[in-house]
Amino acid sequence: MADPFIRIEGVSKKFGTFQAVQDVSLTIAQGEIFSLLGGSGCGKTTLLRMLAGFEEPTSGSIFIDGQDMAGVPPWQRPVHMMFQSYALFPHMSVEKNVGYGLKHEDMTAEARKARVAEMLELVQLAQFGHRKPHQISGGQRQRVALARALARQPKLLLLDEPLAALDKKLREHTQFELMSIQERTGVTFIVVTHDQEEAMTLSDRIAVMDKGRVKQVGAPSEIYEFPNSRFVAGFIGSVTAFPAKVSAVAGDVATVQVAAFQGDVQARAVPGLSVGQEVTLAIRPEKLMISQTRPEGANIVAGQVKDLAYFGKDSLYRITLPSGELISVHSVNAARSAGGRPDWDDQVYLSFAPAAAILLVA
Ligand code: ATP
Repeated sequence: MADPFIRIEGVSKKFGTFQAVQDVSLTIAQGEIFSLLGGSGCGKTTLLRMLAGFEEPTSGSIFIDGQDMAGVPPWQRPVHMMFQSYALFPHMSVEKNVGYGLKHEDMTAEARKARVAEMLELVQLAQFGHRKPHQISGGQRQRVALARALARQPKLLLLDEPLAALDKKLREHTQFELMSIQERTGVTFIVVTHDQEEAMTLSDRIAVMDKGRVKQVGAPSEIYEFPNSRFVAGFIGSVTAFPAKVSAVAGDVATVQVAAFQGDVQARAVPGLSVGQEVTLAIRPEKLMISQTRPEGANIVAGQVKDLAYFGKDSLYRITLPSGELISVHSVNAARSAGGRPDWDDQVYLSFAPAAAILLVA
């Protein structure tokens, strides 16, 4: 990125002796939807509040649109923060709520009215302008907060758990709306969330955080397919992980001994592997094929069905390996039939491509 819109350079934040954010460096491009993802207390809200100017970094710098933000108060930043609670005024109509932020802008009453109408149109609430917040649904309230946030035309919108107050179905729907509104306005969005599916759906890129640090930054598919650590592999999606030891490396392929499989596994090599090194082998449930006859090729392990959950469109198995350890397998039920699938206690074979076997060294 030649000239990133946001540059966070070595930012740390201490509250007393507690290190909430530790040496975070990130660049974010204009027009990106960027998510800060992590468990409770990992420092994501603190980072967002430093971008908004509600907290000052203990060390490091934040640049927005080329300008150093040190000492710049929140109201002088080209930033708007949308809070988890939406903070709508209950006694004001939807229209008044959206227009509230424009009160101090240098605009004619007419221009203000037009902007409010444009924003309500954008979030598809044009017909609800006269209602009060308690007369609309949770999803609509979320859109009012969004309209109010966008009315002042910020260059950067910070969203703290924007969908947390919505139920699951509405949340999925609203994710797509949020993406479409972002696309139409071109405003850069930074979203804080602890919900990995939400981050995967919404974001152009994600920063996965743990204990104040950024563990990995990348596009959703990059983080899912190429996690750089046990933490990220376990946090995004599910994996079964086993200790392994490198026995050979040849080009792209590494051979590792896996006690749980009582044999060798071929895996995609990662840079810097050496023979004899202890690593972790991680496999995602959907990358495993399950069959009742032994397939051809490498990376085959026999097992027995211990648990089985049938969901209709797919099934989740837990398979006991020869060593007694368990591995999860997710299988899509592509054929329409009542039988033919492995059942409880059946002997089965699991197979997977070397590229599906993730080696983790951190
Ligand atoms: P959550 O998802 O639970 O909101 P988070 O990742 O957003 O978590 P932060 O709110 O950034 O976490 O907090 C990071 C850590 O810093 C937490 O352990 C929190 O207790 C601590 N912390 C945050 N604000 C303060 C403060 N003003 N004074 C002292 N400690 C604070």
